[in-house]
Amino acid sequence: MANTAIVGINWGDEGKGRMVDLLTEDFDIVIRYQGGGNAGHTVINEYGKFALHLLPSGIFRKGVVNILGNGVALDPENLWIEIEDVTAKGVPITPENLKISGRASLLLPWHRELDGLEEARLADKKYGSTKQGIAPFYADKYQKKTILAGELLYPDHLKEHLKDLMEWKNLTLTSVYGAKAATMEKLESWIATYCEKIKPFICDTGIFLRDAQAAGKKILFEAQLGALRDLDYGIHPYTTSSNAIAAYAPVGSGLPSARIDEVVGVVKAYSTCVGEGPFVCEMFGEEADALREAGFEYGAKTGRPRRVGPIDIVATRYGVQVQGATNIALTKLDVMSYMEKIPVCTRYLVEGKETDEFPFPTLLEKAQPVIEYMDGWKCGISDVRKWEDLPITAQRYVEFIEQQIGCHIGYVSVGPERDSIIIR
Ligand code: GDP
Repeated sequence: MANTAIVGINWGDEGKGRMVDLLTEDFDIVIRYQGGGNAGHTVINEYGKFALHLLPSGIFRKGVVNILGNGVALDPENLWIEIEDVTAKGVPITPENLKISGRASLLLPWHRELDGLEEARLADKKYGSTKQGIAPFYADKYQKKTILAGELLYPDHLKEHLKDLMEWKNLTLTSVYGAKAATMEKLESWIATYCEKIKPFICDTGIFLRDAQAAGKKILFEAQLGALRDLDYGIHPYTTSSNAIAAYAPVGSGLPSARIDEVVGVVKAYSTCVGEGPFVCEMFGEEADALREAGFEYGAKTGRPRRVGPIDIVATRYGVQVQGATNIALTKLDVMSYMEKIPVCTRYLVEGKETDEFPFPTLLEKAQPVIEYMDGWKCGISDVRKWEDLPITAQRYVEFIEQQIGCHIGYVSVGPERDSIIIR
């Protein structure tokens, strides 16, 4: 496989981690290019079950180099806790297989604090943040008010820079939110406890990647969240604060000249959404409870019950378009096995008119789903490995989605394990 991005087509939680874990076999390098520790990429393999937050999902493969690119929100505390957790389960993590871009900005302790303070201030108007500090972090990054990971290698300069930022940030913490001021003592303890630990992994990943590109190495770009949460193309303001789309991968990865040959878009066989904001195809009551239980739809990071609904063709087609997907991985088809009739949201009803175009975010609040039903298959399919062995009604469901979204479905996932996959 040539350079490939694996991206979410919908609201996130589509099963990207599982697809990256499967496909890393064919790649030399896996790069996370945006987002932060608010991700929860679930991977199940020979080492056990993991919910990866910041580490690229290629970390389990021998010989694969994993990179945290300049576009990520690098939270030293979360990252170090995650490295300890993953290594404790027998996965080696060294500067050989994990490299952190010196140009990645650091998520500082006050970012997480500010996230919580702002959600509390918003009260019932909150966005449903995971409170990992991502929005305050990216706001500061674009104001150039963060520390680059590479600055950790220059301690004297680091302290001066951090002191300046702290004085500035304390104005917001104390005057705007009435919170306690940050102190240098606390920041120094944070540096000693977490930043010192991740220092050995920091390097000029640009040089490494340019050399790798020249040597013809194959690169996998791993996205967090999905198209509908993209800062520019998602459901504003219920987006994340970074660009989750494949087009951002070269910039956020540290290889701006990279050409992405394949974009594998991950789509779940039904819809889920975490947090607030319009979710047109949402199911409620017993129907929703049954689907949530069948798919075990609880947040990997927060444990929050996810909102659920049928597959949303309108949103998925839009996601395929903005991602420029060239191939689709349809996950969790096995979860639908209990359904007699499978609901599909094929169009929206917006201001009295049916449409199959994804509307402007403000109109989404008023949109209603138009639901059609397809026949279910009512039998377990988790052991199926060949397309022709899938029940005919399951094949029809996949083909219908494929035809509606205008992109080939090359992978059908029928279970969370690495080999529970049908390749078409
Ligand atoms: P990500 O953030 O996009 O990686 O997705 P998550 O990890 O949050 O959610 C995917 C969940 O579904 C994880 O618990 C996976 O183990 C699980 N999963 C992935 N693919 C399948 C599948 O085909 N069938 C089933 N039953 N579970 C799956």
